[in-house]
Amino acid sequence: MEGQSFRTKAVHSGLMEGRQFKTKATPIYQTSVFSFNSLEELEGYFEGDTPYLYTRNGNPNSDELAKGVAALESAPDGVAASSGLGAILAGILAVAQSGHHIVAASDLYGGTYHLIKEELKAFGITASFVDFSDGRAIEAAIQPNTKLLYTETITNPFLRVENVDALVETAKKHELYTMVDNTFATPYLLQPYTKGIDLVVHSATKYIGGHSDITAGVVAGRKELIAAARSRIVNMGMNLSPFESWLAYRGLKTLAIRMERQAKNAQELADFLRQHSQVKKMYYPEYVSEQGNGAVVTIELKEEINMSRFFSSLGWIKIVPSLAGVETTVSYPLGTSHRSLTEKEKHTLGINERVVRISTGIEESSDIIRQVEQAISSALLR
Ligand SMILES: *Cc1c(COP(=O)(O)O)cnc(C)c1O
Repeated sequence: MEGQSFRTKAVHSGLMEGRQFKTKATPIYQTSVFSFNSLEELEGYFEGDTPYLYTRNGNPNSDELAKGVAALESAPDGVAASSGLGAILAGILAVAQSGHHIVAASDLYGGTYHLIKEELKAFGITASFVDFSDGRAIEAAIQPNTKLLYTETITNPFLRVENVDALVETAKKHELYTMVDNTFATPYLLQPYTKGIDLVVHSATKYIGGHSDITAGVVAGRKELIAAARSRIVNMGMNLSPFESWLAYRGLKTLAIRMERQAKNAQELADFLRQHSQVKKMYYPEYVSEQGNGAVVTIELKEEINMSRFFSSLGWIKIVPSLAGVETTVSYPLGTSHRSLTEKEKHTLGINERVVRISTGIEESSDIIRQVEQAISSALLR
């Protein structure tokens, strides 16, 4: 693995050794449990001779996925979970216990915001949400019982790029753990573990899987923290099934080629929309990495656009409350991902009825641009 480039690692990283029939693709180990021929062999599991006992404790397919993602993140270890939120919960509970406090970014993915704000109360963990673009606001929110700083490398839907270096610096100063959600960037664009982040989490439902056919999560990072996260996943029943692991790993192999194409399509769409007379605000990062600026473009359309007509004029571009598949899709943050926020929260973030998030796929760039342009013209109130 040493010295291999990202593209090579993406295809070879997780592969399991010693398969019985030397299959090229990893078989799906669709089994809930593993068998033993003797008590000595069974004992061998507990002594580490053989890795598998019961699928909730570990399965070759979910390990393959987790090791694959960890390799691309340049992190020593990883573990898969039944969803992105499952991976986030496992990661958080690996570093925080009852009585601890988290400082989190206020513009998190809606599900993560709810998890941290509401569900963690049952674990006795409290949180403060602050604007992470303001370093002083982060410092001011840190309490004596704060354990963790939590944010996303590229936020949703306004695509703010986190200053990971500054965050690591603040965490070091106050002896805190750091955890980032790298779902929108993927390791193709950013590898925050290499910048000193302790835990990197993915909703593999998105770009890692890439085909909108699974729900899955992975958390990668330092060995001892991943061991703790794995313990939460095993004991709280948040493991990922063999088949979904297999599909996610199948997706991972083409991550580089998909992201390259999808980010290029996003860049071209953003360049087109930036100078469009009906686009009021444009949210597309100016610089994420040398590999590109991501595959999500968010716009706010002008008042002259009938929004309902815009959404029903998109033809082959479907309205999908998710992102990252190989097909170009649009989502409506006000009506879906940010629906449960209060009016004040929506206003502060800038979510309104004119905001549209576009996730570019792998189609021909000119077709995407033409379809979006047609929808805008048909929705123009004259
Ligand atoms: C979708 C998403 C999640 C949640 O992942 P699930 O797989 O739906 O549980 C978390 N963070 C981000 C940035 C997401 O886009």
